[in-house]
Amino acid sequence: MKTILLGGAAVIAVAAVTPAFAAQKASAAAAAATAVVPDNILLKKWTGPYDGVPPWDQVKVDQFPAAFQFGIDEMLREIDAIANNPEYPSFENTIVAMEKAGERLDYVQSIFGVYSSNLSSPQVQAINKEWSPKLSAASDKINLNPKLFDRIAKLYEHREHVGLDAKQMRLLTRTYEGFVRRGAKLNDVQKAQLSDYNQQLAGAFSDFNSRLLADESTFTQASEAEMAGVPADVKNAAASAAKEAGMPAGSLAIANTRSAVDPVLTFATDRGLRERVWRAFVQRGDNGNANDTNALIARIVKLRADRAKLLGYATHADWRMQDTMAKSPAKAMELMMRVWPSAVARVHEEVADMKPFAAKDGVGAIEPWDYRFYQEKVRKAKYDLSQDEIKPYFELNNIVKGMFWSAEQLYDLKFTENTGKVPVFQQDVRTFEVTNARTGDVVGLFYLDTYARQGKRSGAWATTYRSRARLLGDNIVLGSNNNNFTKPAPGQPMLISLDDASTLWHEFGHAIHYYLSDVNYPSLGGSPRDFVEYPSQVNENWLLTRPVLDKFARHYQTGAPMPEALIKKIEASDKFNQGFATVEYLSSALVDMMLHTQPDGVVDPDKFERDALAKLGMPKEMVMRHRLPQFGHLFSSDAYSAGYYSYLWSETMDADTWAAFEESGNPYNRKIADGFRTYLLSTGNETDRAEAYRQFRGRDPDVKALLKRRGFPTN
Ligand SMILES: [Zn+2]
Repeated sequence: MKTILLGGAAVIAVAAVTPAFAAQKASAAAAAATAVVPDNILLKKWTGPYDGVPPWDQVKVDQFPAAFQFGIDEMLREIDAIANNPEYPSFENTIVAMEKAGERLDYVQSIFGVYSSNLSSPQVQAINKEWSPKLSAASDKINLNPKLFDRIAKLYEHREHVGLDAKQMRLLTRTYEGFVRRGAKLNDVQKAQLSDYNQQLAGAFSDFNSRLLADESTFTQASEAEMAGVPADVKNAAASAAKEAGMPAGSLAIANTRSAVDPVLTFATDRGLRERVWRAFVQRGDNGNANDTNALIARIVKLRADRAKLLGYATHADWRMQDTMAKSPAKAMELMMRVWPSAVARVHEEVADMKPFAAKDGVGAIEPWDYRFYQEKVRKAKYDLSQDEIKPYFELNNIVKGMFWSAEQLYDLKFTENTGKVPVFQQDVRTFEVTNARTGDVVGLFYLDTYARQGKRSGAWATTYRSRARLLGDNIVLGSNNNNFTKPAPGQPMLISLDDASTLWHEFGHAIHYYLSDVNYPSLGGSPRDFVEYPSQVNENWLLTRPVLDKFARHYQTGAPMPEALIKKIEASDKFNQGFATVEYLSSALVDMMLHTQPDGVVDPDKFERDALAKLGMPKEMVMRHRLPQFGHLFSSDAYSAGYYSYLWSETMDADTWAAFEESGNPYNRKIADGFRTYLLSTGNETDRAEAYRQFRGRDPDVKALLKRRGFPTN
């Protein structure tokens, strides 16, 4: 079951998780008073193969408002029918009925999520801005419905005596606690205040998205000469982008997105260009113009703090973290601070390694726009390895085949391309049928949207258009992966970096999690935020296993396998640059937590960021991966606010899980893979996640595996 908040479903990577506002859909679909469904494609049951697929080829953007209105009204009618049911509350007539409610609105939101993330336009943004607050208000109407809560509370009170099995008990408990957390026990005045906060926030999130997207849709113009050192495929892509943007002949356009910016920062010998490109990128949302997000962020943080207080929590972070594995800000901070000092120390070593190379260029101090460039020089000198040397072996289609192969070895998931057989929302999107390789049963359909383009948000993410929930008869999962690789010029191969390949496998790990999930109740289909990134991060490990490299990392021209010497060099350098990677991420996660544990929420974001980094001892040679003005995880919805630490929390489990495969001597050990699937991947949130981990590994995850992987001291 998806969140009713657009921000959650539409914008953040892992929409298939059940975010905070989820557990409250309701409706005895049957019992609810019915209304005539208007003639609107968005409101029709999906038809065609795979138990129905989204009708992308028939959707028109101007149909969304009417569809939202009808979907919301229908859901609220369904909820009212449950709340006003004269029968005494039972698990069936209350909790199960709620699980079934709002299904039609779910489908409208699934489609809108793609419009707001993959196909955005001023029209889509205007709809988002208008309807996010309305959806938020509808969500509150359910959360704050006293009659509905009364039924849930009655059931909860008698939970030991109504014959529930373990999953039903978990669902009831979570539903009850979720309602309380979202304000069900407040008085009427407080409830009105809460709803007002929520709607204001929903509007602010969509505003933030529009501004960020606007700044990411800009280009840095460069000449051919300035692009010296940059690989040919990157230059070709920049030339196509310039042409498309109508720039004068001979100029190149560097999009203001991570995958376009990083290669320039890594390879351009022109220091002035590097600085210009870097500044444009790190100043997104922070240019004092119409797209500046600072005031908006201050408003969001204040609203969140006030809301937390109203709900009886000390801070937004305390409130947000109730339903996580970590449970409290202190616990998350403890893990982060266990890793932070080693990471900073490693950055200082990395900078020292770079200095001699910089000196040769007459560069005294390493500036942030120099880091990737000299790091690449060190990599070349220390390991005789250049990113550019790897790329010819990482042709996108081959690497995609490799990740499919790996999923089949581990989980019997078989992917067969069927592009052209089902509608897609953009001509470059490819589709794949997903079957169980042993039984031949169809388990899903996979949509792969690979390329960056105007109107598509940056980054990479995975979603489902339909998740598995046996209760609803939703058996075939419609999943998607979305990346932002720069589209090659016509006729050119699509060569990706090791980083991009890891991202590809990461998002695919989310998809695997969706396809293997086998739950009954939609609300138990998601996972806590700090668990969600675990299956995806684990999946990255199989990219550099020998069978994948031998079979799929083949030279794009000659088909030759990756030379043994190159593989050895990649293996030797696997702990290289972990200082940079860790500090870049952790500084963002720490600032997030520091920001959202401000009890009064009053901040000047610019100053707060500066002070927080100074307090942490941030190395001056680098910046946060996401500065506050562009930190979409935090401000495009509530989803990852006080939650960016989740990646580290998940990685702790990931490293410890990978260690199990390594210790067995076989990365494709089926016994371990079977346990991983049985206890952790297929169970959604039907069992306690910490307990599930113990069932799999026989103990809690050990953080030492993570420290070891990153090459940091373990004591
Ligand atoms: Zn992820």
